[in-house]
Amino acid sequence: MNITGIKGMNDILPGEVATWHFLEQQAQRIFQCYGFGEIRVPVVEKTELFCRSIGETTDIVEKEMYTFDDRSGNSLTLRPEGTAPVMRAFIEHKLYNQDSVAKLYYQGPMFRYERPQKGRYRQFHQIGAEVIGVDDPKIDAQVLAMLSHYFEAVGIHDVALHINSLGCRECRPAYREALIDYLQERLGELCSDCRRRSQTNPLRVLDCKVPACQEATALAPSMLEHLCPACETHFSQVKNYLQELNLPFVVNARMVRGLDYYSKTTFEMVTNSLGSQNAVAAGGRYDGLIGDLGGPALPGIGFAMGVERLVLMKKTESLPTRRLPLFLAVMGQAASDRAFLLMASLLKQGLPVEMEYAGKSLKAQMRRAAKFGARHVLILGEEELFRQVAVLRDMDQGSQQELSLAGIDTRLLQICREEPNGPTAD
Ligand code: ATP
Ligand code: MG
Repeated sequence: MNITGIKGMNDILPGEVATWHFLEQQAQRIFQCYGFGEIRVPVVEKTELFCRSIGETTDIVEKEMYTFDDRSGNSLTLRPEGTAPVMRAFIEHKLYNQDSVAKLYYQGPMFRYERPQKGRYRQFHQIGAEVIGVDDPKIDAQVLAMLSHYFEAVGIHDVALHINSLGCRECRPAYREALIDYLQERLGELCSDCRRRSQTNPLRVLDCKVPACQEATALAPSMLEHLCPACETHFSQVKNYLQELNLPFVVNARMVRGLDYYSKTTFEMVTNSLGSQNAVAAGGRYDGLIGDLGGPALPGIGFAMGVERLVLMKKTESLPTRRLPLFLAVMGQAASDRAFLLMASLLKQGLPVEMEYAGKSLKAQMRRAAKFGARHVLILGEEELFRQVAVLRDMDQGSQQELSLAGIDTRLLQICREEPNGPTAD
């Protein structure tokens, strides 16, 4: 039996990788412009890190983590998200000594044992960013501006920014109690998951996709009505800055996040084009997290984008494909050997070139060149070799010219680089 890959864990094939590169490069370009530096952390951490940060009663910790004992009996977990590992590294390496503000971004695979479907996988990829050390609402607005800037730059327009405030340690407990009381009276209308959550993680009930639960909570008390004065001011300032930056947003009081560490501002970039997997990016403030993990009491805010979901959205408008500038069609062993050396020289000078190795007919070679979208084909056979020339065919114009083999690589570089869409010297 053939060995297959693991359900929910995808191969990213060469044909798709251009979109990944594009999405990654735009993130690098834009995030660096906003002052973020990349951090790379391991894909495995001590299990305790995630239990303590994400929260014991969250879906992730209760049922989605890939947890195992290593050979020494330590409990390890494949990271389900990036914020906790980045905060662990931030504390461990005392990055707070370098500057009063740390701006970090990361990218890489995350692992959650979920039911695989379109836009939901067991290994998926996130690109995320975190700002540590500032509680000014300007930073919330700037992070959201950077996120919007990114979506604009990658050409994904079918998204809306939803924002909410989840309050803080001062005001959330009272709201939580009010919500528990409300849910208590409607237990019979809730799904079994929500009946359990109504005690352990009541905010999560607001987020349930089951229609009966949504109906039962339609008139539930809202966190926004229970914000303490500090959270209230923070949230209204964030909204003001967003307005001043001309960034459209929707206040969505029912948006709770699936991780316990969030406080104050939370947000999602949502789309209608991915079915129920409607969040393409999500994040928020986590002002207590770094202290909880044993670090200094510093505020933080960040987000993560799901790259597979970005790729799915980008699929509809595919990227322009790069044409191959030159294909070498050869006939006979001697011509093949000569072309091989020419190809090596051109590649070393930065010109993408392909050639034929299998000794196919000229017709078959021309078909292969067409498959690469080759702009030019250089034809070299025994007879040409004897005369020390080669024939260069311009595939767009249909014209041909004979080039002398002496100095042909310089001449080819000149011709291929003259093309408006041809490769550049670097
Ligand atoms: P969802 O509500 O879709 O389960 P989430 O709230 O669990 O998302 P976060 O933990 O906030 O998601 O992760 C941020 C982003 O990572 C999501 O907005 C989404 O784009 C992506 N993401 C999360 N889980 C998956 C998954 N299993 N497969 C693919 N992408 C995912
Ligand atoms: Mg989830």
